[in-house]
Amino acid sequence: MSESATAPSHFIRNIVTEDRQNNKNNGRVHTRFPPEPNGYLHIGHAKSICLNFGLAAEFGGLCNLRFDDTNPSKEDVEYVESIKSDVRWLGFDWDDREFYASDYFEQLYRFAVELLESADAYVCDLSADEIRKHRGTLTEAGKESPYRARSVEENLDLFQRMRAGEFPDGSRTLRAKVDMASPNLNMRDPVMYRILRATHHRTGDKWCIYPTYDFAHGQSDSIEGITHSICTLEFEDHRPLYDWFLDKLKIHHPRQIEFARLNLTHTVLSKRKLLQLVQRGYVAGWDDPRMPTLAGIRRRGYTPESLRVFCERIGVAKRNSTVDVAMLEHCVREDLNRRAPRVMAVLRPLRVIITNYPEGQAEELEAVNNPEDPQMGTRKVPFSRVLYIEQDDFRETPPKGFFRLAPGREVRLRYAYIIKCDEVVKDPTSGAVIELRCSYDPETKSGSVQSGRKVKATLHWVSAAHAVEAEARLYDHLFAAENSDDVEEGADWTRNINPNSLETLASCRVEPCLKDAAPGDRYQFERLGYFCVDPVDSSDRKLVFNRTVTLRDAWAKAEKARKRE
Ligand code: ATP
Ligand code: MG
Repeated sequence: MSESATAPSHFIRNIVTEDRQNNKNNGRVHTRFPPEPNGYLHIGHAKSICLNFGLAAEFGGLCNLRFDDTNPSKEDVEYVESIKSDVRWLGFDWDDREFYASDYFEQLYRFAVELLESADAYVCDLSADEIRKHRGTLTEAGKESPYRARSVEENLDLFQRMRAGEFPDGSRTLRAKVDMASPNLNMRDPVMYRILRATHHRTGDKWCIYPTYDFAHGQSDSIEGITHSICTLEFEDHRPLYDWFLDKLKIHHPRQIEFARLNLTHTVLSKRKLLQLVQRGYVAGWDDPRMPTLAGIRRRGYTPESLRVFCERIGVAKRNSTVDVAMLEHCVREDLNRRAPRVMAVLRPLRVIITNYPEGQAEELEAVNNPEDPQMGTRKVPFSRVLYIEQDDFRETPPKGFFRLAPGREVRLRYAYIIKCDEVVKDPTSGAVIELRCSYDPETKSGSVQSGRKVKATLHWVSAAHAVEAEARLYDHLFAAENSDDVEEGADWTRNINPNSLETLASCRVEPCLKDAAPGDRYQFERLGYFCVDPVDSSDRKLVFNRTVTLRDAWAKAEKARKRE
């Protein structure tokens, strides 16, 4: 599938094009995707991945995968592994360019020493609390630390001893000597190193001082020779500080470009909140199919192609906005419409006896696998005396506008015959409808010449004796409110969690051809939506299907209306 052929350009692509025309970096394009391994990747990260890897591919450049692992207390190898498999699944490859900020700890330490030698940094004995108090506000200048004037010799000695583990956690920091009166708070002598005895997932206990993100990030980009350092808007105010470090150190200076992060309706895209959803048990794990994580989305049945198309379509802008989650669903529908074979499945079975069909007899009817793609061919579907249809497709007293099955009424069974409902059998105690007794008209076989008789509805069905039992999980938005943050003053954001986001239907019946469906296989269940075989909970004994999306395309409908206006 060609994803960028028709895509509109965007300001970052224009910047890169211009830099190349000016032969900046000798025309080289080198980007990176820099996740912190403190959680699973989400759909917002997909936007950044597609952008960074996409631009590199487009301009014949390279894109690194770099783990920004400067905060040992929150990071873990589990996250490193999940991030790698998610990036690969999305369709991108970093070859041997898998880097870690922690690989640069020694180099970063030397950079810090350089800044100490040029009197651009100092060891500060203020506590974190005192530093905060000294910082000032947006309208008020900060106060200089009493330790700011330390001599170069004393600073070098103290910093080396910080590294050697002579001082307790939090007792000292290394700070950049920039400007406590700067209108930009990030420039008010930011912390570069802190003392922290925590075991790092890669460097173990080698270090007891760790660089801050602000000190590590820009220098890591520089070390890797990154040409375009693409990040989200909240780093715009950090750029002057990154520039300051690079200029003081006189090292390769990547160009930082900020873009708006992706926000989605009915969704949270913050690793901190996603972690809480997992820890507090609102979902079954990081890969719960309701989660906006790539692991969850993948398990839900989304294709990587549909995500790449989505990321291309939402575009790249400088201003924050929120994308309708219906657009994401539209993208996967569009993709699966062409690719997923169609089958019949009954989610809430209602027994139908075809009274004039001989007992013990069965026949095979021909069904089209996907009308969008004749290449996908046809298959045989067994028909017999006892069938299941959807409970919803029958009403004893049909309301106006209900054209499906009702007493005395005829409908067509897809790929089969016209049937008529002659009798309704009810449970004597509850009064619930438990069975329909119908007759079929043998002259109305689908595709036969005589089948021209008009009925108002066509229903899906399965043959009871041939069908396979399965479980189906139907999902709704994890957050009921369009804006997941929209809660009353003081209320917790979890207030908006939709208590009905998962419906499990344990006794569905699906066509026999699904017996050997493999984990991850995707299908359209006719009239019901797109489903995929759950790769975690399905086994030889139990088939579990996740509904990826329904067939109702709210986005396409709204688009049509917008065009008509
Ligand atoms: P979160 O706010 O969810 O914790 P983060 O920005 O801290 O995300 P990182 O691991 O630092 O997570 O992100 C890696 C890269 O992905 C960064 O370049 C970041 O800017 C980008 N990114 C994160 N969230 C989004 C988003 N919603 N839309 C676009 N890019 C994002
Ligand atoms: Mg971040």
